[in-house]
Amino acid sequence: MTENFLKKGYAAEQAKLKVVWENPNIASICSAMPNMTILQANIDAALNKKSLSEGDKQRLEKYAQITAPGYCAGCANICESAVNLNIPICDLLRYSMYHHSYGHRDMALGFFNTLPTDVKEYIFNADYTIAEKYCPQKIQIGKVLKRTYEDLT
Ligand code: SF4
Repeated sequence: MTENFLKKGYAAEQAKLKVVWENPNIASICSAMPNMTILQANIDAALNKKSLSEGDKQRLEKYAQITAPGYCAGCANICESAVNLNIPICDLLRYSMYHHSYGHRDMALGFFNTLPTDVKEYIFNADYTIAEKYCPQKIQIGKVLKRTYEDLT
């Protein structure tokens, strides 16, 4: 996928921004830009007026489907009420993303350490079966939460 976009003058990350900007249902994006390289890449993507082709959009749609289990959509009302213990699943998956996807372990740890001890213990005792069944992203919630716990303690 990346090579296809590079041939057209933008990186895969820039293509992702463009497809969001072209979606009339999305009003804004909150994009972390921790350095000048990323800031410049985002500016270049914004100034690039070439629209994505239908093929590009289909490739990105397929990519989104394939990688869905690695992205929490934030619909905590679906999963958190489907678990037998009080666990902030959505927040924990965000900490996991900081650590496992962005490499920001200290940030993830800072948030994780604010959780009460009993909540951390619940992670290993909860039954995630129903939550995983209803999760629209098909995330293996229990597995990811336990891995996050182990990596941050
Ligand atoms: S249902 Fe799935 S996608 Fe939605 S918040 Fe829970 S884990 Fe994330």
